Amino acid sequence: MITSTEHINGLISDLRLQAVDFNKLFNGRKSLTPLESVELFLKEELQLKIDKQNRSRQKNAKLPYTKTIAAFDFGFQRSVTKEQMLQLSDMTWVEQAYNICFLGPPGVGKTHLAISLAVEGLNKGYIVAFETLENLIKILKTCEITTSSRRRLKYLQKATLIIIDEVGFMPLNATEANLFFSFISAMSEKTSLIITSNKGFDEWADFLGDQTITTAILDRLVHHCEIINMTGNSYRLEHHKSITG
Ligand code: ADP
Ligand code: MG
Repeated sequence: MITSTEHINGLISDLRLQAVDFNKLFNGRKSLTPLESVELFLKEELQLKIDKQNRSRQKNAKLPYTKTIAAFDFGFQRSVTKEQMLQLSDMTWVEQAYNICFLGPPGVGKTHLAISLAVEGLNKGYIVAFETLENLIKILKTCEITTSSRRRLKYLQKATLIIIDEVGFMPLNATEANLFFSFISAMSEKTSLIITSNKGFDEWADFLGDQTITTAILDRLVHHCEIINMTGNSYRLEHHKSITG
């Protein structure tokens, strides 16, 4: 029986497998036994499936941009050491659902370091998701009426690591603070969170509007948590670039 490539591609499509470049796959491997050919094909399918899942995890993480630990100047920012970050980049803490809080004024590198750990997590095969607190609240408020919010919430619920950026930038009303508490509470002990905030914990009640809910949120957040207090000048201000030089 002579089987055409189109026929095989049709079967691959019916089985929802990945399209395979047979010429490339079998190039120089003409002497394979039937079983070896099947094995080679299945291994290729597996690799293509893994590649597809990796691309999808990268895309669904919704990182605003990529940053690395290698690109961070630890000479400029001395509140955290390279050794500390390299230790955290082994990502073993996500297995115990530990959290990390980067606290400090604008421009000191909180989001940079949070994203660099998100990148490490993605490279290690974890499901990672990035949201600003503002967007997270929007998702929580609209998940019952908007399909995209419902889908995103489902994705967050299956993530191993969620970065919540810019906590403290905007004040929350009572409903929003409660939604934030419920989310933190639902994630605690099961999902790792990386929080960045321009406010110290003692100032959180100011934007959360209520001391009781603040205590409840912090209680869950810091139970298993690495707190990195960052000080110093804004990297943006010190390294600002002008148009005319
Ligand atoms: P924050 O989140 O604390 O406001 P960012 O992480 O957004 O600050 O940093 C602002 C910009 O400065 C980013 O482009 C970031 O990559 C860069 N940056 C901040 N600190 C450093 C540093 N120590 N080394 C290299 N780049 C830095
Ligand atoms: Mg930031």
